[in-house]
Amino acid sequence: MTTFADLGLSPELLKAVEEAGYTEPTPIQAEAIPAVLMMKDVLGIAQTGTGKTASFVLPMIDVLANGRRRALMPRSLILEPTRELAAQVAENFEKYGANHDLKMALLIGGVQMGEQVKALNDGVDVLIATPGRLMDLFERGKIMLNACELVVIDEADRMLDMGFIPDIEFICDKLPDQRQTLLFSATMPAPIEKLAKKFLDNPKRMEVSRAASTNENITAFKIPVKNREKRSTLEWLLRNDLVDTAIVFSNRKTTVRELNKALQRNGFASGEIHGDIDQASRNAELQRFKDGEINILVASDVAARGLDIKGVSHVFNYDTPWHPDDYVHRIGRTGRAGAKGRAFTFVGEGDDEAIDNVEKLTGAKIAVFGKKDVRVELPKAEPKANRPTQDATDHSDDADEKREEKPKRSRSRKADPVEAKPERKARDEKHDSGQRNEKPERQSGGQSRRRNQDDEPVPAGEWNGPKPEFLSFGFK
Ligand code: ADP
Ligand code: MG
Repeated sequence: MTTFADLGLSPELLKAVEEAGYTEPTPIQAEAIPAVLMMKDVLGIAQTGTGKTASFVLPMIDVLANGRRRALMPRSLILEPTRELAAQVAENFEKYGANHDLKMALLIGGVQMGEQVKALNDGVDVLIATPGRLMDLFERGKIMLNACELVVIDEADRMLDMGFIPDIEFICDKLPDQRQTLLFSATMPAPIEKLAKKFLDNPKRMEVSRAASTNENITAFKIPVKNREKRSTLEWLLRNDLVDTAIVFSNRKTTVRELNKALQRNGFASGEIHGDIDQASRNAELQRFKDGEINILVASDVAARGLDIKGVSHVFNYDTPWHPDDYVHRIGRTGRAGAKGRAFTFVGEGDDEAIDNVEKLTGAKIAVFGKKDVRVELPKAEPKANRPTQDATDHSDDADEKREEKPKRSRSRKADPVEAKPERKARDEKHDSGQRNEKPERQSGGQSRRRNQDDEPVPAGEWNGPKPEFLSFGFK
């Protein structure tokens, strides 16, 4: 087994890595770190959540350890598609670079430019930037790129989706010919291949698993559903699939807004991020999600790109994504760093082609969610004597059930974080022990979910409401 110590990193860095709590390198780290330390160009392809950030941040810190800073001329440049991602990489530098004297600057939109320009004037070793803001400063003559000897193009496929390729070409043209270039991507569409050919010099190519394959820690399902039943289906799953934290993706900003409002109205602790929300609010919302103040985040693709949020148990694709690459990125928000996750994709009317494209890209059919995958006991076909028959017949409107259950859910989330903790633990153990749950596990999960409820006791793990209609797709 490869250890971090085998990769050639300095003792200071090994200490920082240990402090970060990493015990062994991920496959992309094991391959990329030695190559970067040998000053080679690197083309790294690995699915989301596989630790690509540390695979360049760690060796860069050692490569840059010796050398002098100069005003306006950053020594290295990391390009990131979004502000959030840039900020995450900066956090990584701070964490691992704690034992080094390296200066870093973050050039991102939505932040006052004065501070950023001042940092550049003082000289930086590492500049982390989004293409737009960098171009802006470059064109104003506030920055020079001709001393930049190490360049990282991170999340290249996102750059492509966001239309940044021309900007990247412009920036790369201003860089010195003598340089080291690293390109990382989860997928490798043709324009990225082309970009790599043009700007990388005899790169060491590493592909830790098939491009666009998805993480084996993620159990993925698709659910054929009528568009008008998407919301009730989502709510059913949010209540019954042992959801700890969830990101719900939609293709449209308006859907994000409407869906979040509806979820809140129905008592869920949810929030939203999309491109129309200003940066400060986006950060605040993310923080609320990370802090557990809300446990459901409704998001558009742009806003959620590459976000590294720990312990997301579920991803819901409220719409099948139009671009199959988005599917890989969306579901990659769960199942990170070895944890198990569940991903549900709604296939609405008119989504046939989109889901075909997803399955072509990932090279596998996604399982249809069916009865065997349900984590709570469903009502028996014959209603029990002690259960009101209405429970079994009322498929369309479970309003009473909602009214009863919802306030409790948000109350227990918000006002009782101590109680929420063990709940999370119980679920984590469950995730760890396998995706398809055996009965005893299911029951213990059910118990922990319902612990706070003070109404009439419900048999452990048993769904007390109507059988959701969408399930009939799965086992007709
Ligand atoms: P990617 O860029 O490939 O999508 P990230 O670099 O954002 O992935 O890393 C995903 C998560 O994995 C982060 O939470 C990170 O802290 C964690 N991680 C990275 N390397 C390791 C490691 N060697 N051991 C354990 N966790 C790691
Ligand atoms: Mg990344």
